[in-house]
Formats: sequence, C-alpha cells, structure tokens
Amino acid sequence: MLAKEISYKILAAEIKKNKGKCLGEGFSTPKPKGSCSSTARSFAKSIARGVPAVQLVETAKAILADDATLGIQRNNKVLKRIAKGGPTHAARQAFAAFDSVNLRAPMRVSRDSIGQRDDYPWIRPQDFTFCLQREKRLDLLLPAADLQTSRLILQEYWRRFKNQYDDHGIFQELTPQELQLTVPIKIHGDEGKKKSPIMLMSWQPVLGSGTSRSITLPAAVQKEAMNMNFLGHCETTRFLSFAALKETYWDNPGVLQKAMTLIAEDLLAFMRKGIPLEDSNLPLRVAVVSIKGDWPWLIEAGALTRHFRRAPKKGESAMVGEGICHLCLAGCDGYPMHEVGDAAKFLATMGSAASLCPWNTLAPWVDLLPASPSFHPYMFRPDLWHNFHLGQGRYWLSSAFVVLLPLFGDGGVEVRFQRMTASWREYCSRKRIRLLAIRLQYFVIC
Ligand SMILES: [Zn+2]
Repeated sequence: MLAKEISYKILAAEIKKNKGKCLGEGFSTPKPKGSCSSTARSFAKSIARGVPAVQLVETAKAILADDATLGIQRNNKVLKRIAKGGPTHAARQAFAAFDSVNLRAPMRVSRDSIGQRDDYPWIRPQDFTFCLQREKRLDLLLPAADLQTSRLILQEYWRRFKNQYDDHGIFQELTPQELQLTVPIKIHGDEGKKKSPIMLMSWQPVLGSGTSRSITLPAAVQKEAMNMNFLGHCETTRFLSFAALKETYWDNPGVLQKAMTLIAEDLLAFMRKGIPLEDSNLPLRVAVVSIKGDWPWLIEAGALTRHFRRAPKKGESAMVGEGICHLCLAGCDGYPMHEVGDAAKFLATMGSAASLCPWNTLAPWVDLLPASPSFHPYMFRPDLWHNFHLGQGRYWLSSAFVVLLPLFGDGGVEVRFQRMTASWREYCSRKRIRLLAIRLQYFVIC
C-alpha cells in the first residue's frame, strides 16, 4: 500500500476532527514512557495500517464487553480510553490514548503562513531527520545500517551519478568528501483521490532495501547494484512533509507553491549545512535529484506548459499542438505524438535546445534546487506506476481481454466476462496469487 493511502486515512481523520488545524498535532511533546501493553501496540499498528479510528473504538468496546478477555484487559488504560471515543471523537481519543503511553513519534511540527492560515502545520525534512537521529533510526534514511558502509555506497552512487549528469549543480555545491554522507532524495507529490481529495507531499531516499525481485539475485549482483527504495513499510520509506485537504488548495494555487517553497528551502539548508552526527566528523546531508508525482501534480508544481492536457481533443488535428510532454516536443507542430515506432520524430527532440523550456517561467521553488542546466525539465519525473496502471498497462490488458474473449464460450460479452472472471479467480487461488481484481469487467476495456 502506498504511503499516501495510509497517511490519507490518518490525516483526513485528524484534520477533519480539528477543522483543518491538525497535522500530527501533539507530536511535538515526547511523553515519558509508561506501561504499554501488547494490545495497545497492536492498536497503534492498526492505525498506521489505515484502520479507521471508529473501528478501533468498536473493537475496544467489544474486548471490554467480552467476559472471556475482560480478566486480562480490565485494567488496560489504553483500551478503556479508546473505548470512550464516540463517532465524532474517535481519532482524537485514540491518538490521546497512544500519546499517554508514548506510542506516537515525538516529531516537531512547524507552523507557517500558508493560504488563509498563519499557523499551517507541516514537518520540516530536517526535523524529521532529527527525530530519526534521536530515535536511533537513521538507518531508515541511510542506504545501510551503519555509517561506514553507507559512506562507501554513497560515494559510489555519486560517482555513477556524475558519469551520467556531469554538469549537475550538486557538484558545484558539494565536494566529493561531503558527498560521501549526502543522501540522494526525491520529492514526491500526489493527490489522493478518495471521496474528499487530499494533497500529500513527501520525500524519500533514492536508495533503500531493494525490490522483491532484487533480493532474490545472487549476493555478488546485489552488492554491485544499488538497491532501490521499494521494500519495507511505506511509513518507513517515504517521509511526509505536507498535507492539505482539497478545500485548502483547490481555488488557491499559491498554497501548493508556498508549501513547496518551504520544503525546498529546508532541503536546501539541509544540503548546504547538513545535520551534525555524533559519530562522524562529516555532517549528514540530503540532495534532491528529482521531483516525481502524478501528472496533475507535476503540471501544478512545475507550472508546465507542455503536458497531457494539451493533447488534441476528439475531432481536432493531432498534427499541430502545444505539446503534450515536458521532456520533448511530442504533439508540437511536425512531431506527431501518436508515432509509436522506433524512429518517432519526437524522440530526437528530448533534451534539445527547443525543448528546454516547458514553462513560461521556471517555478521559483524549483529554481532553489540544484539541477542539470543542460536539461532542467528532467528534474520532473513522471510516476512510472501511474503511467502503467492507468495508461499502457491498462490498454495492454484490455487488448488481451479482447483477444481472449472468444475462448470463453458462447453468449454475450457480459457472460463471457463472468466466465473469464471465474477462470481468473480459480487461477489465483491455485497459484496462491493475491486477487488484486475481484472482477474482470467490460467497462475496463472501454
Ligand atoms: Zn516526451
């Protein structure tokens, strides 16, 4: 599950209960450790997994009402406190209960003037890192559990990065020695589209524990490769910085630009000055190597003028347009966007002088971050999985369905889809594959 999905539930509950005031409210004061039962821990983990607080209240009430468990749980203060929560105060009650036994991260929350409010809460990346350091969990940010190995990995990472992006501004900012303890990171922005959208901005180390595939490779291959940051619970691999409900930013684009400026300024200070470490003469730094997100966020964040929304509508000429891609001239005059061959004309325009300004003015917050002057738009990277799930992957699957449909007997399309679904479910159960799509449906291929 993506970080945004979990954070969405926690934050939406928190923010709504406090009428937009709350992002980790109460995280700022570490409480002394109290007695903490395993039940309290498992309840806290449930919240982190996205279980709604209201459901916790019901579970707590059920446990306390159950004669068989009451003997063990009678004096469980956390359970009793959570059970007191009603439908409107469930989240507040649950967080207060976790707070009382030190089950919340002691994270400092900053407040700044964003949108209509003077005290909008957000988490500085530097404060997040201080918290990791204090809790002795810097391994979540570093590419290895110990500092010495991390330095070797980071040294090699930046050597390879320089081979690829020799003119990158990072190399003017930091010396090779400083880069030995500089963690490459990405900024990530995404709009959770649930019933009520919420914008989340986070940052994440580029390097991590690898992927489910990479850890099956021979040790020598793994050692040579750089581990991507995919494995592990998303709360430990993506670090939240800013969240806003739709009503905060929908009519006011300045909100997101301001939030991104604050984040970029903090990351810039983090890169230039670093955070001192107890057991190292070098401070710990981070450096942004790219900005990624779903397409609507990228357009907003980079004030892009060439993007998918510029694609010609039905009935319009696909030959002339303003361009659909911030990296190349696809969709511009003379560069048809629908060419899919190896020799598509737009391919050669990627990184060309003519393609270098997919904006009227570079967003000021992006200008704060070092980049490659020869290909500045490449700071913005599309989210590969978004593209695949909602684009190529979806088209590929629907084409496959059409080809397979005649194999599922007589009858109408709906009936054949029902048979295909039955066959798919049987296959997943036999192969022990998690059933990601419960039903294969006709509308998916429309
Ligand atoms: Zn392109």
